[in-house]
Amino acid sequence: MKNCIPVALALALVISACQQKKETTVENNTRPAYALAIHGGAGTIKRENLSPELEAEYRSALDSALTIGETILKNGGSALDAVTQTVAWLEDSPLFNAGCGAVFTHEGRNEHDASIMDGRNQAAGASGGTSVVKNPITLARAVMEHSPHVLLTGKGAEQFAIENGLDTVSPDYFYTERRWNALQKALEEEKEKGLSEYWNNTQSTYKFGTVGCVALDNAGNLAAGTSTGGMTNKRWNRLGDTPVIGAGTYASNDACAVSCTGHGEYFIRYAVAHDVWAQMVYKGLSLEAAADAVVMKKLVEKGGEGGLIAVDKAGNIALPFNSAGMYRGYVKPGERKVMIYKED
Ligand code: ASP
Repeated sequence: MKNCIPVALALALVISACQQKKETTVENNTRPAYALAIHGGAGTIKRENLSPELEAEYRSALDSALTIGETILKNGGSALDAVTQTVAWLEDSPLFNAGCGAVFTHEGRNEHDASIMDGRNQAAGASGGTSVVKNPITLARAVMEHSPHVLLTGKGAEQFAIENGLDTVSPDYFYTERRWNALQKALEEEKEKGLSEYWNNTQSTYKFGTVGCVALDNAGNLAAGTSTGGMTNKRWNRLGDTPVIGAGTYASNDACAVSCTGHGEYFIRYAVAHDVWAQMVYKGLSLEAAADAVVMKKLVEKGGEGGLIAVDKAGNIALPFNSAGMYRGYVKPGERKVMIYKED
């Protein structure tokens, strides 16, 4: 499957970006120089649903995304830049439900949501329901850095992207046959089952996706970013958790950075990303215990399918999910892993 931007070019861009922006190294014996985790969506991802060729493509794309982020962090770049560029690279891959490769709405459109958060000061930016912005994560970052607001949506968000010189494309840039076929399947299923049964009880074979990245940089700063096409067959300009700070994305240097994927309505209701932070700060839980309490206990009890990736200020990483699988990976100095299934 084609990638919309060659890895070598993307790497050259990120190296030059981080050479301009060296951070001061903080001496700290307990944390690694950097840590970064990514996800490419959670859902009913089982060996029997993926051909060996497609599985290899996913693993290779996840690995390339780790390289994008790691290169920035290794060269002294910021967590924020690593998150932005890594998510942008995943958005450019047609494999994931974000950017080109996003799922289709009920009406056959692509509507993108994204958000980003800076752990240093809780600055945050997000966009919802855009259809022409090539890399929604760059729009989220522009909202954070160049507007007095946190969340912009629809036409206004697109206008803001144009005014800020971001790349825009014709809506058919986002078309992929695979996602179009998934919409046709979903429409049939919704007709058979009815709206409520379809949304509440259907397994997530083709509903989810989403990409995200969390990072800890050499200066001890945390950042998180998430980007998605949302859920197949969504309508009425539905927004999920991805553009909602505290639900799909959260970062604070005093504890952790979190990016979520799954059935967004549940992640909004239970403020999932913020809850991981809160359980660490108010209850004194470790990252792993906090992330598990939210994903494997609270969400399971409520029926909310999905997972998250998180990194804490000491560089620990947690990647819990309560679905069959989650495209995921992490990298630290001397350690690197890409995983898809539960048994990976
Ligand atoms: N959380 C996203 C949403 O509900 C979907 C996903 O993660 O795949 O829009």
